[in-house]
Amino acid sequence: MTTSRSKAEWQALDSAHHLHPFTDYADLTAKGSRIITRAEGVYLYDVDGQRILDGMSGLWCVNVGYGRRELAEVAGRQMLELPYYNNFFQTAHPPAIELARQLVELAPAHVTRVFFTGSGSESVDTAIRMIWRYWQLRDQPQRNIIIGRKNGYHGSTIGGASLGGMGAMHKQLAYPVGGIVHIEQPFWFGEGGDLSPEEFGLARARQLADKIEELGPERVAAFFAEPIQGAGGVIIPPASYWPEIQKICDRYGILLVADEVICGFGRTGQWFGSEYYGIKPDLMTIAKGLTSGYVPMGGVLVGERVGDLLGSEGGEFYHGFTYSGHPVAAAVALENLRLLREEQIIQRVREEAGPYLQQRWGTLAEHPLVGEARGLGFFGAIELVADKASRQRFDEDLNVGMRCREHCFNNGLVMRAVGDTMIIAPPLVMTHAEIDELVEKAWKCLDLTAKSLRN
Ligand SMILES: *Cc1c(COP(=O)(O)O)cnc(C)c1O
Repeated sequence: MTTSRSKAEWQALDSAHHLHPFTDYADLTAKGSRIITRAEGVYLYDVDGQRILDGMSGLWCVNVGYGRRELAEVAGRQMLELPYYNNFFQTAHPPAIELARQLVELAPAHVTRVFFTGSGSESVDTAIRMIWRYWQLRDQPQRNIIIGRKNGYHGSTIGGASLGGMGAMHKQLAYPVGGIVHIEQPFWFGEGGDLSPEEFGLARARQLADKIEELGPERVAAFFAEPIQGAGGVIIPPASYWPEIQKICDRYGILLVADEVICGFGRTGQWFGSEYYGIKPDLMTIAKGLTSGYVPMGGVLVGERVGDLLGSEGGEFYHGFTYSGHPVAAAVALENLRLLREEQIIQRVREEAGPYLQQRWGTLAEHPLVGEARGLGFFGAIELVADKASRQRFDEDLNVGMRCREHCFNNGLVMRAVGDTMIIAPPLVMTHAEIDELVEKAWKCLDLTAKSLRN
């Protein structure tokens, strides 16, 4: 595949025929896309042969790193044994059943069932339909409002985009799903003003109670949020936030849904972000790290409150995907779980590699452009600012984040820009030497960014 055409040919064909996700097409045609041809460990290689340290695990998913033969071999074996069969209409197959059993065993104790999907967005849509179905079965169909958050990300289907709080996405939705409202995010650095992080976390959590009262508690079905916001810019809530949210959900009896698509499978140093924060969601959406991105798969982990009703007396649930529980994806997921467990990859994030990454990443706070360096587990973010003391931002037109991202790519590092927040989420297997390389490259690219601002 990789050597059959020149770089220029790949780029010309790409811009002529390939509509990319989340891409400005005029920009793409002007600059040409970067063509990635292979990967190994934590490194990508492009068509020019340049080696690039992948600070983002692809899109937050390649948790066990690239090039794991075990995953490829299991996929090949499963394709020969049973490449496809569905789980509709009272059929099933061993990979899906075994994966459901193992996920229930790994998940918090109240989780008893799993619904499989093909992606994170499908998982979010499935969870929305489960919320509505649950309250119908409880004879409270008027309880159908779902509360999400501004700057949350829950995928790109109409349901996911409506539930998420991305302004630019909403502008392109002619008809967002009704009955979804948003409260503000717990982003202390950006929005905390003079409050301490603890005070601010409580204030933002209490917006949930205020919103429920405003709407009428008998109309609110669920609160839906990421334990740590990923695409929104690695927003790590103050410690006071999640315990207060849990209390409010309990007080009003509404369902709590944790979107674990990024946090799940080790990124916080626990199997799930919900465990890190000690919350007990009724539904947990998963994808990405479930298969380390080697094949597409997602799912919804269902707690007993919803599962006992929906999964036994609920009658037929008119919902499902052709690829729900796909045997090849399920086999890869099982092997991925085995690697995470047997190589103690998550324990390493919690006890050793995570603390090392955080200690090294924290040194970036000393850079003149950086207003804050934060992180947790294998998440990291830095805020680029015009003035450190006042947290003053750069003029938006300067595109400082995008400049920094370009410098990174040109210097062999993938770091993502969310406005002027630079973020990382490296493969969980990154070694100390590779972490050193990541931080050194990040510093150098911050220097280059600062220099370009002076010119
Ligand atoms: C990526 C993501 C999704 C969407 O997953 P897709 O597989 O891209 O559909 C949903 N929720 C969160 C938190 C995500 O990060």
